[in-house]
Amino acid sequence: MADRIQPRDDVALMPGYHSPQVDVEVRLNTNESPLPPPESWRADLAAAIDRIGWHRYPDRAAAVLRERIGALHAVGPEQVFVANGSNEVLQTLCLTYGGAGRQVAVFEPTYALHSHIARLTGTGVATGERAADFTIDLAEVRRVLIEAQPAITYLCSPNNPTGLVETEATVREVLELAPGLVAVDEAYGQFAPWSALELLDEDVPLVVTRTFSKTWSMAAARLGYLVGPTWVVAELEKVVLPYHLDALKQAAGTLALDHVEEMERRVAAVVEERGRLELALRDLPCDVWPSGANFVLFRPQERAGAEVWQDLLDQSVLIRDCSSWPRLDGCLRVTIGTPDEDDRFLAALRRSLTPPTAPRNVE
Ligand code: PMP
Repeated sequence: MADRIQPRDDVALMPGYHSPQVDVEVRLNTNESPLPPPESWRADLAAAIDRIGWHRYPDRAAAVLRERIGALHAVGPEQVFVANGSNEVLQTLCLTYGGAGRQVAVFEPTYALHSHIARLTGTGVATGERAADFTIDLAEVRRVLIEAQPAITYLCSPNNPTGLVETEATVREVLELAPGLVAVDEAYGQFAPWSALELLDEDVPLVVTRTFSKTWSMAAARLGYLVGPTWVVAELEKVVLPYHLDALKQAAGTLALDHVEEMERRVAAVVEERGRLELALRDLPCDVWPSGANFVLFRPQERAGAEVWQDLLDQSVLIRDCSSWPRLDGCLRVTIGTPDEDDRFLAALRRSLTPPTAPRNVE
């Protein structure tokens, strides 16, 4: 048999993306919304499907969707870039501003796809470390940025997987220091008390990315966007494939924006539920990190994280095992679910962390 063609050397060495998709009763591993979109959204989408001219390419500019997203954030459509999930937004950013001989800067632990996507696009990755409490260490930022002169400096607020929200002062400082673009990934921005969207300006090299996968209950649709200066959006539009956003997705996103109030109520409910879950976790032998997102990072103190993860899975509760990730020794991450799902998780966790009392000797 002839030798098979091999991928690029750097791709051959890559581990790929591993987040097990297991069939379980309680799924709290990928930070989705616990609830499906509102019923009326489904009905409206069914009607919209009927109106799609399927033999024609979709609106390449996604004009209506960008207009509506822009209105949501009080900016014009020319400041909005839309793509297939915020991961594709990040990929387009790297294809546009990264590439051979250029670098992005990331501060670990953070969202693994920031560095993974950079590498896929041939961009170098300069890695800095967060402080012991996982906040951004500005001295470290200064060191990495001076050394690497990155084209893109990533922040993630709230940060996945730690849940920490960057302060406005930190984002402003990083903007002062960064030689290129600062990209604030706000996939969980709606759950946090403030947003870097407030700092956007035509003269500020700042972009903010968001997604429909979490708050908008539309992870299945794969829709995300970036808000930034018009000069960035214009360059991204040159790089992304023509007609990359299909007509169905454009309709789905536009219709979702008819439900802003309902979604805001849901966000408030998730934030309240997060408070309850954090309190319950603090009652157990666990270290718990304060979260501004729809998930909580915790570390069982007396048992190995991977064992606890397996115990939960054995009880049909799937959470994220971060225990082997750099700097996250023994850590686990749980998505906020419905109160019922969270109760199932807590009960399973209590069983895992509380050793069964030794059977009494009955003679
Ligand atoms: N950024 C962060 C921080 C995330 O956690 C995720 C999803 N896990 C994404 C981006 C990607 O989201 P999507 O591609 O679904 O929009």
